[in-house]
Amino acid sequence: MTEVELTAPNGRKITLPTGLFINNEFVKGSSSEKLASLDPATEEIICEVESATADDVDKAVKAARAAFIDPAWRDMIPEERARLLHKVADLVEEHKEDLYTLQAWDVGKLYPGSLGVESDLVVKCFRYYAGWADKINGTTIPISTNKFGYTIRQPVGVCGAISPWNFPLVNCSWKLGPALATGCCIIMKPSEYSPLAALYLAKLFKEAGYPPGVVQVVNGSGQEAGNALTTHLDVDKIAFTGSTATGKAVIKAATVNMKKVTVEAGGKSAFLVFDDADLEQAAKWAFAGGMGNAGQICSANSRVLVQEGAQEKFVGYFTQLAKNSKVGLPFDKGTTQGPQASKMQYDKVLQYITDANAEGANLVTGGGPCKVGDGKGYFIEPTIFTGVTNKMKIFNEEIFGPVIAVSTFKTEDEAVALANDSAYGLAAMVFTENMKTAVRTAMKLQTGMVWINESNNYDVKMPFGGVKQSGLGRELGESTLEAYLEEKVIHVNL
Ligand code: NAD
Repeated sequence: MTEVELTAPNGRKITLPTGLFINNEFVKGSSSEKLASLDPATEEIICEVESATADDVDKAVKAARAAFIDPAWRDMIPEERARLLHKVADLVEEHKEDLYTLQAWDVGKLYPGSLGVESDLVVKCFRYYAGWADKINGTTIPISTNKFGYTIRQPVGVCGAISPWNFPLVNCSWKLGPALATGCCIIMKPSEYSPLAALYLAKLFKEAGYPPGVVQVVNGSGQEAGNALTTHLDVDKIAFTGSTATGKAVIKAATVNMKKVTVEAGGKSAFLVFDDADLEQAAKWAFAGGMGNAGQICSANSRVLVQEGAQEKFVGYFTQLAKNSKVGLPFDKGTTQGPQASKMQYDKVLQYITDANAEGANLVTGGGPCKVGDGKGYFIEPTIFTGVTNKMKIFNEEIFGPVIAVSTFKTEDEAVALANDSAYGLAAMVFTENMKTAVRTAMKLQTGMVWINESNNYDVKMPFGGVKQSGLGRELGESTLEAYLEEKVIHVNL
């Protein structure tokens, strides 16, 4: 087994397997090329892990197929599938310091915050789907006096799960939970920018007692390992989370054998603030939902639309929050914003700031890199622009950084039209004390999710996903089970 001994910035000593996790073993890949994990707060390499080729992915698919059929994971009694998911939830709770240390180190997420909210989301996700494992029923349909039919819902088979780097563990769990509850086998392909936490998680799945081949992890590039999964003829389903551009490529690739595909893609979510809103609360939620995770949230409210009468007061509160924000190291207790996850992301965000200035948006606060410690790392100031029009790039394109575009509106109709003026349709937020305005507006917004008087407050029981170019299908909630099941009908002629 390949592994490294690591000492994290918070002093934790962690033994991490670095191999590909295939058939319950951490193994070397067939290529000599490795993936380097880089700490975005210091720009130092943490370690290298194996990087899968198409051949390695093929081995994982064969192992998954074997596990699905014989000894038949798909036929394992539902109570046992539930027990295993609860067991893995217990292990995540037990090892959360190691898991979230690795995640924070690998992508610059805030360690204390992740340990609470994210760990809770992951554990709840496994437990929620454990609860569904023995409730996957069919229906009986009477046809005539001597005929009836019935349906059964069977696991779709071998699933490939491709995820991004912004919530490495949460994103894994949202796919693992429903796949394992329904009796599918699943091969995880984490982002090449966040390979570490999934390897530790794989160790926990093995410890929980999952049979070989049921859960596997193949780190690697999108072009090689990701593409190998989406084009493999023996993979039945792809659960993808990532950018809209890659999502479209995944959908195309999956046509090779008509795989089922779910896509959770990008967003440009609008946060509507009406004159009568509690403006201080609105500013707090807009800040948390827009700048949280250094703005690297798919459903981040990166556009704020504020009614003219509330603009001055709202922008005042909002700007103050940005000024009070402490950009710093992910493991420091007082830090409220860490670095961008990679150099690529850092450069991209700074370019959007340059473009916004050039296009005539009004920079209220922030607007550039932020020096933390010795000046290394990909830190950017929380940045707010006002006077943003729907012609500007920062209104239309997903920045995925701590940059928020504020525009104004006069009427409810104008607010709805501006919010819907987007290729994306992931989420929207509505702030008002008038519930009639809130509910009416929510009905008209072309998004998969609307939060009224809060933002980005997730619950595993609630479906998550978008319309338009933000995705195809949903994750979380009961309806997600369908994405991992095939309905079979059986006609009975007595
Ligand atoms: P990305 O599209 O660059 O990569 C996502 C994953 O796809 C990675 O694992 C990557 O290796 C893989 N990939 C790349 N090319 C591929 C190919 N040709 N075939 C198969 N796989 C391929 O996205 P990212 O930069 O990692 O993540 C940021 C994006 O993810 C943002 O657009 C964000 O909005 C989106 N996101 C969406 C949600 C959601 O639930 N809607 C959640 C988190 C992130």
